[in-house]
Amino acid sequence: MQFNIENIRKDFPILSRKVNGKPLVYLDNAATSQTPQQVIDCIVEYYSSYNANIHRGVHTLSQEATDKYEQARKKIQQFFNAKSSREIILTSGTTHSINLVANGFTSLLKKGDEIIVSSLEHHSNIVPWQMLCERTGAVLKVIPMNLEGELIEFEFNNLLSEKTKLVFVNHVSNALGTINHIEHIIKKAHQVGAAVLIDGAQAAPHLTVDVQALDVDFYVASAHKMCGPTGIGMLYGKEAWLNLLPPYQGGGEMISEVTFEKTTYADLPFKFEAGTPNICGGIAFGAAIDYLNLIGLENIASYEHELLTHATKKLLEIDGLKIYGTSKNKTSVISFNLEGIHPYDVGTILDKLGIAVRTGHHCAQPVMDFFQIPGTVRASFAFYNTKEEIDTLIEGVKKAKLMLS
Ligand SMILES: *Cc1c(COP(=O)(O)O)cnc(C)c1O
Repeated sequence: MQFNIENIRKDFPILSRKVNGKPLVYLDNAATSQTPQQVIDCIVEYYSSYNANIHRGVHTLSQEATDKYEQARKKIQQFFNAKSSREIILTSGTTHSINLVANGFTSLLKKGDEIIVSSLEHHSNIVPWQMLCERTGAVLKVIPMNLEGELIEFEFNNLLSEKTKLVFVNHVSNALGTINHIEHIIKKAHQVGAAVLIDGAQAAPHLTVDVQALDVDFYVASAHKMCGPTGIGMLYGKEAWLNLLPPYQGGGEMISEVTFEKTTYADLPFKFEAGTPNICGGIAFGAAIDYLNLIGLENIASYEHELLTHATKKLLEIDGLKIYGTSKNKTSVISFNLEGIHPYDVGTILDKLGIAVRTGHHCAQPVMDFFQIPGTVRASFAFYNTKEEIDTLIEGVKKAKLMLS
């Protein structure tokens, strides 16, 4: 398909709305992406024509819903190139996926074992591991970063030992946009026998991910950052690991047989999918993947890189503006501050101009602490943004600077 930005924008009804009397300029894609008509139609179709519980009924609606839900799982499997759809667990999102794995490791760790996270993590890839350490007596180690916002490889290598059982790193930092060198991390961790979980929430919408080529043990993402709805996400796990981990929640759908003496669990993936899932969300996640495939991840990555280059250059022309996260290897996220001005104030003025950016610590307080700042203004671009919108942002930032300094 040809990458035609005008046609693409027509797929997103929300992009034609106004905010505070100005055309919406949506630059908060790292928090959540917008939803194309194709996905909205899929949601409407589900509730208008085949809403039913899945994997249970023999009736037609239930079978239609089950088929569509399992087709969505297949689409997710193919998108991440997993070997089998048994390795794809549908969850409520990245946070749920990480907690599922962290919980599963409770019985596999003992006092004195070590687990490693990075200093670039989102809180949802820190707190569940701290809770795991409290339960097991394992020790949490942290990979430091440099001033560009990149993880320091030799420091990571030094942290590894035969005590290391798990390593958890994001593929792309949501606060700075850094693309981490996860191939290196996975290879090195495997050399000491540690398992690796990669938080792909910020990578899956922008980069081609191949879990088999990466040889990663667990990979997690959320649909709502990939043009899908909220409340649905995925966990990829190598089948051997998923067989080893105990179930996270008990309930219907995850069992094979139940008696009061003993219950046996269902096969993968259902062992981890207790209760009625987000059926419509799962099917719409599949539709979102169809949409991303239609545009093409390669097209998305190269177009977004153009936006990033354009915005970086223009922003740096503004006196007193500092960008945090200056790695050469970045997705289209720019975190910045104006000298002497609080990010919240900049965000408020931009909102008056119809421009949506994120301000604050971006659920990554350790990153802010490292740079000794309370937070940043973060503009994050998607493939449906334009250079004109970036120019509007630049004008807005200049205006904010005039008003606030
Ligand atoms: C958004 C995000 C999360 C949390 O995702 P939820 O959808 O809120 O569960 C975790 N890690 C990263 C890197 C993120 O960007």
